[in-house]
Amino acid sequence: MASLAVQMTGDQGLPLQPANLVFGEGNIDCQVMFIGEAPGAEEDRLVRPFVGRSGKLLDKMIDGLGWKREYVYISNIVKRRPPDNRDPLPEEIEAYKPYLARQIGIINPSIIATLGRFSMNYFLPTAKITRDQGKAVPHEGRQIFPLFHPAAVLRGTVPVSVYEESFRRLKEACLDTRRVVHNHKDDFGPF
Ligand code: URA
Repeated sequence: MASLAVQMTGDQGLPLQPANLVFGEGNIDCQVMFIGEAPGAEEDRLVRPFVGRSGKLLDKMIDGLGWKREYVYISNIVKRRPPDNRDPLPEEIEAYKPYLARQIGIINPSIIATLGRFSMNYFLPTAKITRDQGKAVPHEGRQIFPLFHPAAVLRGTVPVSVYEESFRRLKEACLDTRRVVHNHKDDFGPF
């Protein structure tokens, strides 16, 4: 993962330079990887994903499950801040795609929890956030678990209680995935 970060840093062809490269951070052996849209001002300043107001809420939701931020891996689709926090452009998403694919390949999470519409539609182009959030969708051998972006909760568009329930379901989906793996192992004897 470190060499991927070095390679990415040296890629002069990536868009949105000279903003800082916010590569991602966390446990590369995690079961759940959280993927947001793109860094904001605070993320660009501190060169870490989800450390502004949205990040504080994300931390709170993760803590509420009895997990810690350090247990999971957190990154974004686009790894540099778009000017004035505008939406990432399709060509920017495309340019960062090979790196995100390699990051996912290295981590190999069983569940990708997407934060917001952009990240969800990256994996599930026809999904609708209000209809599909809070449910696991099988995708290329993993589960995609769409979640609202924390900014939607901070804006008051999504009630906190709805968000909490979605995170509880994410935890359930993780436990289910483990159960499947565990049962599978049991088929082969008590290793
Ligand atoms: N919003 C995102 O989508 N990503 C971040 O890292 C911070 C805010």
